[in-house]
Amino acid sequence: MAGERVANTDLLSLKGKVALITGGAMGIGYGIADRLTEAKAAVVISDINVESGRFATRQLGLPRNHFIQADVRNPDDIGRMLRHTVREFGGVDILVNNAGIYPFKPMLDMTIEEWEEIISTNLTSAFKVNQAAARQMVEQGRGGRIINIGSVDSLKPWKVGSAGYDASKAGIWGMSKSLALELAPHGITVNVVAPGDIDTPGSRTNGLIPTDLSSSKIPLGRRGTADDVAIEVLVLASRISDYTTGTIRVIDGGWMLTSSNTPT
Ligand code: NDP
Repeated sequence: MAGERVANTDLLSLKGKVALITGGAMGIGYGIADRLTEAKAAVVISDINVESGRFATRQLGLPRNHFIQADVRNPDDIGRMLRHTVREFGGVDILVNNAGIYPFKPMLDMTIEEWEEIISTNLTSAFKVNQAAARQMVEQGRGGRIINIGSVDSLKPWKVGSAGYDASKAGIWGMSKSLALELAPHGITVNVVAPGDIDTPGSRTNGLIPTDLSSSKIPLGRRGTADDVAIEVLVLASRISDYTTGTIRVIDGGWMLTSSNTPT
């Protein structure tokens, strides 16, 4: 029960909770699935990619029904993803809205189609997925946790050519604060995790390579790992964060303290 004293040893347990993670087959999403599974949540991995989704569930030793294919841009897929989670696992207690893309392109060269693609994949889908999960949580009447994966770009440009990405991630932070107020009466918290430079399959193919963004520019002296982000998500999903809503947690090795921006 919220507000009751919990023993230190039980604070991180997610036993009895159902967690849905979008884009959970790879990178940060997979790291989150790993940590939440270890915390004993029933984890549902959702991803656009069937092959990597099935591989991820096998890697985690989970039965096949812990994966559901869904493209978060598609409202029908979102509905199917929620129905699957409720039917197979009895509801949804934790949503981690993680799926996202980060193509970089200077704004002067960007087409309207490219702008719309990034806003639709990162921000409009966050609205759709948050809304669908929140409606389910309100109906269940047992509270819930929504954790949106933003970025340091929610707060400050990482590199030149990130106007579309920055708009989408700043939008996630703005939306989350407002939703935190709206859902507080239902005992549902909404928080944002804002990673810095994290070594993932996506960041390796999207120009965020170590030579580009030298580790020497990161005060803690190394790139982040998916697990660095996953641990913060675990904390926000757990009893440790019962009284935490409307916050943004920056996981960047101190990069925000520097004045570094990488030119294209
Ligand atoms: P990855 O590209 O490594 O993994 C993302 C996963 O999401 C992939 O499995 C991908 O599938 C899937 N995905 C992509 N589009 C969709 C979609 N429309 N619907 C459902 N699933 C989709 O990304 P990261 O782990 O690096 O990033 C995850 C999140 O973290 C993103 O929101 C990103 O913006 C954020 N982030 C990442 C940082 C980093 O440095 N890595 C820094 C700050 C924030 P497929 O590969 O088949 O497209």
